Amino acid sequence: MNYQKVLEEIRDEVEPILKKGKIADYIPALKRVDPSHFAISLSLLDGRTFGIGDVDFKFSIQSISKVFTYSMAVSLFGEALHKRVGHEPSGNPFNSLVQLEYEKGIPRNPFINAGAIVITDMLNSKYKAKTFDKILDFIKSVSNNQNINYDKEVALSEAEFGYRNMALINMMKSFKNIKNNVDDIMDIYTKQCSISMSSRELSSAMLFLANHGIDTTTNTQYLTSSQAKRVNSLMLTCGHYDASGDFAFRVGLPGKSGVGGGIVAIVPEKMGICVWSPRLNLQGNSLAGTKALELFTTKTGLSIF
Ligand code: GLN
Repeated sequence: MNYQKVLEEIRDEVEPILKKGKIADYIPALKRVDPSHFAISLSLLDGRTFGIGDVDFKFSIQSISKVFTYSMAVSLFGEALHKRVGHEPSGNPFNSLVQLEYEKGIPRNPFINAGAIVITDMLNSKYKAKTFDKILDFIKSVSNNQNINYDKEVALSEAEFGYRNMALINMMKSFKNIKNNVDDIMDIYTKQCSISMSSRELSSAMLFLANHGIDTTTNTQYLTSSQAKRVNSLMLTCGHYDASGDFAFRVGLPGKSGVGGGIVAIVPEKMGICVWSPRLNLQGNSLAGTKALELFTTKTGLSIF
């Protein structure tokens, strides 16, 4: 398979829609990103890498961080964690408050904001003041890259305008599903969303999930095969909020988006993928990024179905 040629074709075909959609503007720091960026990176398990566009430009990973924190929690707490967060698609926007009240403070899944916040709270019960450092260490470790950090300006902006996330945390606290201090949880969650990574780094960080939980570069087992299956299953069914069905229908791969315009995906036993284009569709997922992944699986036949 000539992957480089496939990536070039995709770039040409998405060109006309790169101006469609709207950049995330809920915080000033994200609005400043040049919306014309575009990148696709592939990291194969055999060590080869391919890319096109701004593959080394670091952007805000936002909700892609939920994949890493859920992976940490699954390996630490196993099945028991699902007493406090479900594993069903929400069918609702990522920051919705309505369903959370009906369902008594138990979020539908770990990939909407409320669910990820509960996961952060679980990690905080274990790691206390070291929680954010542990999250960053995990991401550095699965990426085999020490040069990863969070963007302080984005984090400050997230904290300043995080009214809805604060509301979610407080509502869950009222249902006793947040065990720690609400301000500490808000601080850790905003920092994890503000981590900056490039598409090249993110595609390589997905390799352990493409390989039954094991990083082949270092032979480190981060998850059991069964735990990796669960992370990937949730990416397929819940990774794109209320557009998860549409993403599965069009792309057919486990994937997770973030409002920074990144989407990660895996092809089991083959590769990690990351696409980046900052303009978003109505559900807050990268518009051209989703199209690029749809073209990728159509052209290569590499969907899971
Ligand atoms: N920081 C964003 C928020 O909490 C993350 C949401 C996202 O990427 N969908 O609102």
